[in-house]
Amino acid sequence: MTKVIILGSGAASGVPSITGNWGVCNPHNPKNNRRRAGIYIEENNTGILIDTSCELRQQLLDNKIKTVDGVLYTHTHGDHLLGINDLRGITKEMHHKGLNIYAIDAQINDIRKHFPYVFMDATDVQITHRPELIANVINYNEKFKIGSFEIMPLEFQGHPVVTTGYDIDNGKVVIIPDYKVIPEHTLEYLCGLEINLLIMPLTSVKAREYHAGMSENLKYIDKIGAKQVVFTHMSGSCDYDEVEKMTPENIHPAYDNMMIEI
Ligand SMILES: [Zn+2]
Repeated sequence: MTKVIILGSGAASGVPSITGNWGVCNPHNPKNNRRRAGIYIEENNTGILIDTSCELRQQLLDNKIKTVDGVLYTHTHGDHLLGINDLRGITKEMHHKGLNIYAIDAQINDIRKHFPYVFMDATDVQITHRPELIANVINYNEKFKIGSFEIMPLEFQGHPVVTTGYDIDNGKVVIIPDYKVIPEHTLEYLCGLEINLLIMPLTSVKAREYHAGMSENLKYIDKIGAKQVVFTHMSGSCDYDEVEKMTPENIHPAYDNMMIEI
């Protein structure tokens, strides 16, 4: 059995935002209370974290996750990265043997630039308690393994930076990151899969300059095909009940701590 947990279902500002703005979301529906994006997947005692949101600590506390076997990054924008420092609690729990993180070259460089002390091989570090991470550079369309998971990194475009999606176990779970355009080669690959669970962002109902909206999502889902689809990374423009009403039966909005078993 594979267990998937949506750790955070919100876009960059969360819902409500720091100033208490709920957008069009009904504040009385607890499913509209959204932390920044993150996903956890577990099978055969192997756990993978996708992104380290700035609310990682609370996300892992809620779900009683104390160790993970790898962290996959979609990109290095703040809402997806800034909980990286909290990984120090995980590497401590893992007896300092180091935690593998996976990202494309440009993103590993970005992390090294902004958080040079988080890597095990860092020198001249003045901090005693720090994450002990091991950098793994991945390439698009080259599979790699974490435990029994077989992972294929996929390229997405149209966000201000290139973003990485992941096909986990040949269509068992496919994660689409922040995107505006699915490049032809990625689309071709996705169309060739029989997808069980597709997790994709619905940053806002209406399309934005750097984010696809509902109509682009539905068009792509039509092409790709998936048994079930979960929309995550939702801003205040996506009320839970309204999104549920707008979507066909196999598509559902996510909520924080939503668990799906496959
Ligand atoms: Zn984001």
